[in-house]
Amino acid sequence: MAKSTRRPLVAGNWKMNLDHVEAIRLIQDMALRLRNLDHRAVDIAVHPPATDLRSVEGIIGADQLPIALGAQHCSAYSSGAYTGEISVAMLARLSVTLVLVGHSERRLHYAMTDTDVAATTAAVLKGLLTPVICVGESAAEREAGETETVLVRQVSAALEGVAKGAEQSIVVAYEPVWAIGTGIAATTEDAQLACGRIRDEIRERRGDVADSIRILYGGSANPENAGELVSQADVDGLLVGGASLQGESFAAIVSAVCACYGT
Ligand code: PEP
Repeated sequence: MAKSTRRPLVAGNWKMNLDHVEAIRLIQDMALRLRNLDHRAVDIAVHPPATDLRSVEGIIGADQLPIALGAQHCSAYSSGAYTGEISVAMLARLSVTLVLVGHSERRLHYAMTDTDVAATTAAVLKGLLTPVICVGESAAEREAGETETVLVRQVSAALEGVAKGAEQSIVVAYEPVWAIGTGIAATTEDAQLACGRIRDEIRERRGDVADSIRILYGGSANPENAGELVSQADVDGLLVGGASLQGESFAAIVSAVCACYGT
């Protein structure tokens, strides 16, 4: 499948920013700015904090905004004594359709392992939501020349949670840890190399369905580098952190991606 037939996705990860009142303001601002754009060829998503989901869902629903609602994390369990956790079914009831799984901040600060990533991926797919599986090497791993090894390990482990035939329902995000929040994005060549390697690994394990899976780049994406990043053959969109917290920069990124896809 050619790149042009994979619909690009631009997803904003708001992380632990904005209370629900601020979230309403941001989604309304985004909606106004996106209205002036022809973004029919691009999927757009936002991943607000869990406490904002109900409010953002309300605005998206009331105004019928073409923005998908995503969560930043969920439990691998369906219910029970897991204090502080949120199940896939709870998210689905809030019209959430995407869930970030294994973001490097979850791996780093909450000891999320490759096994946890696989279990959470399986839970998300079972609930008929789309896991956005985050992978990427740390600065130390990159310096040690281990980028490829890390990507292969993380991707193959995550695929343990993907039943045969369910591959098309996943999204993978390549997020080099050293690029997240630093203002230093990967070069377009490095982003392409890593995303291409991820696709090859999926192809080796699952066959040609790899060509239909969207692979995003994330890590200091901004309006200036967005177009060049998504023009790479295996980069099918962006996961955006800091620059998704302002309507202006997020809309400018969507606009750059639209331009690259000819809309
Ligand atoms: C992220 O954490 O998913 C991310 C891409 O962050 P930033 O764009 O701020 O580097």
